[in-house]
Amino acid sequence: ASPTERDLDTTRHPTTGGTASPEVAEQAARRRTFAVISHPDAGKSTLTEALALHAHAIGEAGAVHGKGNRRGVVSDWMEMERDRGISITSAVLQFAYAETVVNLLDTPGHADFSEDTYRVLAAVDAAVMLVDAAKGIEPQTHKLFEVCRARGVPVITVVNKWDRPGLDALAIMDELTTRLDLHPMPLTWPVGVAGDFRGVLDCATGDFVEFTRTPGGATEAIATRWSADEARRTVGDAFTQAEEEYDLLNASGHGFDLELFLSGAATPVLFGSAVLNFGVRQLLDTLVALAPAPSARADVSGGAREVSAPFSGFVFKIQAGMDKAHRDRLAFVRVCSGRFTRGMVVTHADTGRPFATKYAQSVFGRERATLDEAFPGDVIGLVNANALRVGDTLFAEEKVAFPRIPLFAPEHFAVARAAVSGKQKQFRRGIEQLGEEGVVQVLHSDRRGAQAPVLAAVGPMQFDVAKHRMEHEFGSPIRLEPLPYSVARAVTPDALPQLENRGGAEALTRADGVHLAVFADKWRMSSVERDLPAGALSPIFG
Ligand code: GDP
Repeated sequence: ASPTERDLDTTRHPTTGGTASPEVAEQAARRRTFAVISHPDAGKSTLTEALALHAHAIGEAGAVHGKGNRRGVVSDWMEMERDRGISITSAVLQFAYAETVVNLLDTPGHADFSEDTYRVLAAVDAAVMLVDAAKGIEPQTHKLFEVCRARGVPVITVVNKWDRPGLDALAIMDELTTRLDLHPMPLTWPVGVAGDFRGVLDCATGDFVEFTRTPGGATEAIATRWSADEARRTVGDAFTQAEEEYDLLNASGHGFDLELFLSGAATPVLFGSAVLNFGVRQLLDTLVALAPAPSARADVSGGAREVSAPFSGFVFKIQAGMDKAHRDRLAFVRVCSGRFTRGMVVTHADTGRPFATKYAQSVFGRERATLDEAFPGDVIGLVNANALRVGDTLFAEEKVAFPRIPLFAPEHFAVARAAVSGKQKQFRRGIEQLGEEGVVQVLHSDRRGAQAPVLAAVGPMQFDVAKHRMEHEFGSPIRLEPLPYSVARAVTPDALPQLENRGGAEALTRADGVHLAVFADKWRMSSVERDLPAGALSPIFG
């Protein structure tokens, strides 16, 4: 739109005299911002490719994730990552599907947990939970689902790999109910058992959607729609069985209910095969029809920032060293309100200082493109964001601060020491920066001293990243000595003296001033807790 058109579009913002734009509200309504959560190998990379293929964002499947010999453009930014064939960092894939702009935020795909994944889930409006038909709910799926639940992120479930022998569809519904306490509401129901997949029953219309394999699999699968009458004639038993199963489910309260989905109590379920591109279009249609668009975001004052208010956003991820040639630090910002235009000067809520956005980029793995404009739900990458930390708010015109992203209870602890003497300055600076970026949590105590900070992580992979960056980026290789703790709680200052000289327990302090009590295990924690003032320990997360 030309500037004049924009001016015509905007009205004065009711509360501040700033601008509230109906066009921004319209743009926000077109957005769907989500992440895929799954256990490794459930097919997340394959699904991501298939989604992009359907949306025609990229020309061929295989261009998204650089596995094997496929042309890789995403997130293999570190040698370490390439060596292991895993993605450590998150990228953002944006594509258009019909009238909708879809933002798919990638989450790290390795077996290990990292706090990165949790933070990405703070920046999405919905999640797609990918379940391997043969394996059902796996540990990492479970853990990530709990994060979605805690954050109120609604979840769409996709049962993947239906082209292969697997569990019974009803057994998978059972797992959702009993293991996740999540009420399944199938939108499609498989026709033919896992391994002999014919297509799906469209639960809303009763039609049969037949899937036909296409040679190569890299092109879009052919889906043909038949009426139930035709399907009964041509497919026979497999179709009538699917109808009977779904009728039973529907009669026992598993019909679709939008409110239940949005509240997080229930999940729509789709069946498909990412590798054959079966069911991928249904997923896109479901995202468009059911997933929530960006909406007003709660701020720290108890109010909420409407999407049409002036620009605001928060940093959900900091990434450094993406590009060896440019040792820069990139802050990923989720836009919450307003129109972002490159070059605008925004305010950093924490310091009140201006932040120039001349170098705003959209980032997709290693590929970066200059970004000129963004709307609520979009993600912008800000280059040279040395002043920004995870959780920080940026705003224009009208002041706002969003709640910080909660830090999660670390489960792995190690003492870090400079491996080379004479590098104390680099050591300290590096450790401090890694803590600020949230690569690891950095904990100190008087007893251990400044030379021996304790690094804490949700997943041990975070230690590998810290080690790698200390050596290659900060020029101070480190040694890590694991500590025998596995549980952490926030602890009130009055209880600190009682934690001194207790075996299997220790008190440490984080840079943000939070005191942590760490314990060898839950039993140790329970026994120590009995001697502490009531309510001294609180779970940092969960
Ligand atoms: P990720 O670790 O979750 O990203 O999983 P990938 O997308 O890398 O997939 C793991 C493996 O499962 C790969 O060998 C895929 O080709 C395979 N795979 C993914 N989706 C399907 C599917 O729908 N059917 C079958 N048979 N294999 C699949």
